[in-house]
Amino acid sequence: MTSTLKRRLGLLVVMAALASVPLLFGSFTVSLFNDIGMATLVVLGLVLLSGVAGITSFGHAAFVGIAAYATAWLNTQFALSPWLALPCALAVTALCAVLIGALTLRLGGHYLPLSTIAWGLSVPLLFGNLTMLGRHSGISDIAPLSVAGRDLMSAEAAFYVVWIMVGLVGLFCHHLLNSRMGRAIRAVRGGDVLLSSVGANSFHVRLMLFVFSAVLAALSGWLYAHVNRFVSPAPFSLHAGIDYMFMMVVGGMGQLVGAVAGATIVLALKNVLQDVLPLVSQHAAQIQAVVFAALFILLLQNARGGVLSLVSRVLPRRPVSPAAASTEPASEPLERRTMPTKGAALLSVDAVVKRFKGLVAVNEVGFEVRAGEMVGLIGPNGAGKSTMFNLITGTLGLTAGRVEFLGEDITRRSQREIALMGMGRTFQHVKLRPNMSVLDNVALGAHARGRCGMLRGGLALDREEERRIYDEARRQIARIGLTGQELEAAGSMPLGTQRLIEIARALASDPLLLILDEPAAGLRKPEKTALAELLRRLREEGVTIMIVEHDMDFVMKLVDRLVVMNFGTKLFDGAPQEARADKGVRAAYLGDAA
Ligand code: ADP
Ligand code: MG
Repeated sequence: MTSTLKRRLGLLVVMAALASVPLLFGSFTVSLFNDIGMATLVVLGLVLLSGVAGITSFGHAAFVGIAAYATAWLNTQFALSPWLALPCALAVTALCAVLIGALTLRLGGHYLPLSTIAWGLSVPLLFGNLTMLGRHSGISDIAPLSVAGRDLMSAEAAFYVVWIMVGLVGLFCHHLLNSRMGRAIRAVRGGDVLLSSVGANSFHVRLMLFVFSAVLAALSGWLYAHVNRFVSPAPFSLHAGIDYMFMMVVGGMGQLVGAVAGATIVLALKNVLQDVLPLVSQHAAQIQAVVFAALFILLLQNARGGVLSLVSRVLPRRPVSPAAASTEPASEPLERRTMPTKGAALLSVDAVVKRFKGLVAVNEVGFEVRAGEMVGLIGPNGAGKSTMFNLITGTLGLTAGRVEFLGEDITRRSQREIALMGMGRTFQHVKLRPNMSVLDNVALGAHARGRCGMLRGGLALDREEERRIYDEARRQIARIGLTGQELEAAGSMPLGTQRLIEIARALASDPLLLILDEPAAGLRKPEKTALAELLRRLREEGVTIMIVEHDMDFVMKLVDRLVVMNFGTKLFDGAPQEARADKGVRAAYLGDAA
């Protein structure tokens, strides 16, 4: 049996089992299942936001509450039907998330989780003190959901609505993770510099993801209001927000299935404890908190990946997106840039200075690069070569000086804007996502060449574009000789190979200027020869290349021109043969290499 068939069969069995729940169990158990389904919706958002992208939020219960209160208020005040109140509730929550996200997502380190605690505390406080929202007694007599004119009063009837939504949202999230935006979301942990280098707007990606997760929480809140037909501040407290986070961790952080697993385990356990603990003690609530805390610590000690990691051996391998799995080519390739005419001025660096506090890392360095050239930048360790590259690519801001690219002043442009103009780069300290496949890492490079956003990705309406992106990624992987290893995790590759993967990622952006920081470090002789061959071919195609390299044999045979730096200043600029003869260069650099 193929793995797809197995997965489909498994899914059918799960669906059949779920569908029979209301027929097999009493109302109490069915209500528990409804609670699990509603919690799963929130946790699915948290899996993407926290588990995958690493943005911790303890405040998502507040978003559940905002939507629940919004729909409750609209329904009881204006008799608006639940289905009409749904878009309003989602919109209000999304708006709150945009505001909160815009204010807090720029905060680094611990400030962000702390700020989530702040709004997680204050929103339910607001509910409890607003007279129009019924203060602490909340809002009751909310209309039940109705489908085709029939009110879904019972838990059994609501069950199907809840779980159909869980299924649809789960499918959406699955498609989303395997889309263009999904790759960017999975790369968020790699940092802003990585995302900007492929032309993605890191803040925008994080904000969209944050709003999306808030909308999922809102959907859960809307269901909550119409299933329970009563809202009060308590279920949306910070405590509930921490519980959602707990479910996410218990389920296994980065896994969508983990959302259901985590919600089920935590809510079922709570239920059992609520039955059992009162029999043993009068302080049941306190003991429950202690039991949960103890379990949490045990879990983090023994199974960081959550319960899913414990059973992962029997689970099918994580599926790859259809576009990534198929080798059927797209109807047409991605559009390409027009290369500048050979010899035209491409990059001009003029009296550039970079100061790190007291240290002048780059001191009034200037040079030109013409289209179609391959220029080597060499110099001893600490000469300022990587800093120079960071200044050209906009990764670092200049202290003084001016950089022009394609005839435009890019001195004050952002790293992302410069990348979008056609500057591709690799990093001295490799920036790959180790858990993503080689293919996905390279496909990330083509981010700016695609258009599909989260909605089209989640609805799987991006297949043709994805095929084009993956075709391009495969072509670049073939160039670095890794065909057949596309689906391996990038982190499992030797460091030298990881450098090559970064080159393929940069090439996937169709760069006019390729900036390579020590690409041959860690490569063996035959691999170096292959790399030199690739770079020569790229030059023939019209790609301009700047390269930092320590292997003098390698670089001398390869480049058209050398720029030599030492202690932040430029020593030499000219043909490689002349560099060998230059006294200053010999003394500073070649002298100790020869
Ligand atoms: P190279 O790539 O030529 O080996 P670098 O450009 O990495 O040299 O470093 C040049 C100098 O600038 C070194 O002395 C290094 O310690 C310093 N430097 C580089 N980056 C930073 C930074 N972010 N903060 C402070 N000093 C830095
Ligand atoms: Mg360096």
